[in-house]
Amino acid sequence: MKKFLYICAAAVTAALLTWMSYPSVTARAESLSGTEDIIEIATPDQLVDIRRAPSAHYRLTADLDMGETNWLPLPFNGTFDGDGHTLYNLRVLQTGHEVRTTADGNLKPYDTTFAGLFSTVENAAVSNLHLTGAEISVQNDGSCFAALLAGYVRNSTFSGCSVEGCVNMISKGVNVGVGGLAGYGISDFDGCRADATLFFEDRRTGSRCEQFMGGLLASGTGHFTDCMIRIDGYDSCHGYVHNGGLTGMYFNGEPDWRAGRVNRNFVEGQISFFEDNPDRRAYCAAYIGERLDPPIEMTDNSQQFTRNESTDYTTVLRPEKCDEPQYRVGVTPPTCTEWGYTTYLCQTCGHTWRESFTPPRHIKPHWETVIPPTTSKEGLRRQTCTACGALLAEETLPPLPEKSSGIRNNLPIAIWLSPAAVLLATGGLLIFRKKRLRKPASQK
Ligand SMILES: [Zn+2]
Ligand SMILES: [Zn+2]
Repeated sequence: MKKFLYICAAAVTAALLTWMSYPSVTARAESLSGTEDIIEIATPDQLVDIRRAPSAHYRLTADLDMGETNWLPLPFNGTFDGDGHTLYNLRVLQTGHEVRTTADGNLKPYDTTFAGLFSTVENAAVSNLHLTGAEISVQNDGSCFAALLAGYVRNSTFSGCSVEGCVNMISKGVNVGVGGLAGYGISDFDGCRADATLFFEDRRTGSRCEQFMGGLLASGTGHFTDCMIRIDGYDSCHGYVHNGGLTGMYFNGEPDWRAGRVNRNFVEGQISFFEDNPDRRAYCAAYIGERLDPPIEMTDNSQQFTRNESTDYTTVLRPEKCDEPQYRVGVTPPTCTEWGYTTYLCQTCGHTWRESFTPPRHIKPHWETVIPPTTSKEGLRRQTCTACGALLAEETLPPLPEKSSGIRNNLPIAIWLSPAAVLLATGGLLIFRKKRLRKPASQK
């Protein structure tokens, strides 16, 4: 009988995503315009199901809260259109099952694992996908690359994507790295944004690690165009560091790759690092840490980047600058259209971050009767948000009952009164009949 029409759930989420609107890249995977079926994703479980068909075509149709999902990084080689939607609260505490070969600057190969939303992205296209409040935290003994979007990339394009969050790695591996958008490989990034805190702690003793950190890509090559990178990096290394605002090392580990292109990117932020190594090289620069082949075309890039090298090799460098952080916790509630979040701010050193994003919700919804029901017609009531007036739900009201007769509603009294009425009526009739019978007699 009751019909609930939830009207604005989709509309509410459509107006989000403010800070990633620059640059306005509308590029999408060309294959999405083809005739192949596109699978729509509206829940975290459906995102998990990509694993069953990693080469298919997908489109995200809603912002998703990933906070309840124990995420296993996905291998992917299809097309993914985020359609401007955001994954909130992604938390990755493990590497994916995939193993690929990575190389150091001397082309020495390493079997390597990967962490990120995607473990591997190969011959794929990812567009207009956003991550907010993401955290990748892994601890590993082997070679490993971790980044917010993808650990390993190859022959793929990323366009109009953005990431916001932190990547933490504690490692005993040899070939290792952390990146904002991606970890290791060869791919194109066009109109992407990263706002990433990157942390790497080297716990390797003995032979020295090859360590990479980049706000866009930890190590690799490709075309980086119109990207905006904000990096806050912390790198404590007893081997060889390769740190850059865009990429730690720009190089060609593959024989078939074309010349590189790095144009119109903007980098801001800092990398704090130490390189505890007598053979110190200390690569750390605004765009590219160490530059090897292939030749690179670089134009119109700009930066506000600070290189902070430390010579204290005993203190692990961390975003928290103080020994005893005193955090003030502030909760920003969601509004009708925007996600809320919790802010942590250290009162001593000012270190701050946001996490635990909560979905938009309407405020104090209440019901209002807009068409009162009558005895012959249904009525209608609506639930609207008192903050924004959005119509949330609608419900018909059943017709009113027929007007009460009194007797029906006062049955016990009626039961007493009815015999009395019958008696009175009968008595009255008898008197009337007697009078009528007598009259002719008296008239006679
Ligand atoms: Zn502090
Ligand atoms: Zn509202």
